[in-house]
Amino acid sequence: MRTILLITLTIVLSSVGMAQLDSRKEVKIPDIPGYMTLKCDFHMHTIFSDGLVWPTVRVEEAWREGLDVIALSDHIEYLPHEDDVRIKFGRAYEIAKPTAEMYDILIIQAGEITRSMPPGHFNCLFLKDVSALNTPDFWDAINIAAKQDAFIMWNHPGWQMEDEIPIWYDEHTRLYNEGHMHGMELVNERSFYPLCLKWCIEKNITMVGSSDIHSPTGMFYDLSLNDQRTMTLVFATSRTLEAVREALFSGRTTVYTDNMLIGKEEFLKPIFENSVEVESNDSEYTRAGTFYVQVSNNSEVPFQLVSREQPKGLEYTGEMVLYPERTVILQLKASNQAVNNPMGIRLPFIVKNLLINKDTGLPVELVIKEAQSK
Ligand code: ZN
Repeated sequence: MRTILLITLTIVLSSVGMAQLDSRKEVKIPDIPGYMTLKCDFHMHTIFSDGLVWPTVRVEEAWREGLDVIALSDHIEYLPHEDDVRIKFGRAYEIAKPTAEMYDILIIQAGEITRSMPPGHFNCLFLKDVSALNTPDFWDAINIAAKQDAFIMWNHPGWQMEDEIPIWYDEHTRLYNEGHMHGMELVNERSFYPLCLKWCIEKNITMVGSSDIHSPTGMFYDLSLNDQRTMTLVFATSRTLEAVREALFSGRTTVYTDNMLIGKEEFLKPIFENSVEVESNDSEYTRAGTFYVQVSNNSEVPFQLVSREQPKGLEYTGEMVLYPERTVILQLKASNQAVNNPMGIRLPFIVKNLLINKDTGLPVELVIKEAQSK
């Protein structure tokens, strides 16, 4: 009897373990009005360049980690495994594609033009023929990618630069002026280049964040501790490659990295608003005194709030964190003047970890009571 119990217990436990291993963890960041929020990683490597994994492993990792879209972007010019692995450009994509279909992961055919700085490394997404980019002259390679209607992005501009501060060279001006710099990595792996954020805003370049993963992701990120790869959130009209492409060329992206979102206010604001709920109990807020409101965060991003100018007659904490998938209580002390405002009580905050520019957090308002529509 005991043996049976033990065996049963072992089966139950091991099947629980198995279930976890074979399961997908969604990235909990909401859609925004008019668009789906797709979780994408446009920069990663396989054994067909200098990566350490087989292409199908990249698809399975992506599925487990809640991604919707990936691009396998093996180097064109850097092939350290070529004595051991027969290199055929685009082969990683061919191998991964059936697995991607099975897991419902969208996969983009891509390649990484890999030159010393300047100009540096450039991912070309949505290629039709990767091998065509294998040509000695950099400008030929870029023109061939452009003829294939590729989305071209400047990878890790601060990599190997002093203090990781990128330099904009003449080559980049030429690329930009010729209309061939569509995107830029603000974040590569765990490196954030604030200067690139400024450039993207000034020059209207699409913001991208990528893992540039070479090892298995579980060897680089502690996935059991909610650690995860850097990714790009793409605001697309549907979950299709054509919609992803349209969104990329239109600049509808945000970078998600290390508990931080980096992007334009027009995208960060609806993400915040669709994630946060303020419990509103009308009867409570019509008199002066101390009262409490509950603020929930339904996303997986912790929002670090710092108070902006506090409205007259209201006192509340200057700083609070809205923890992921939790509710926190906010204590307010209010005077008559404050609670009788027909616009409701609006508490202005800055979200420190939602960046809309270098050192600039997203301004938001917690609205406790909307104006009564009578
Ligand atoms: Zn790379």
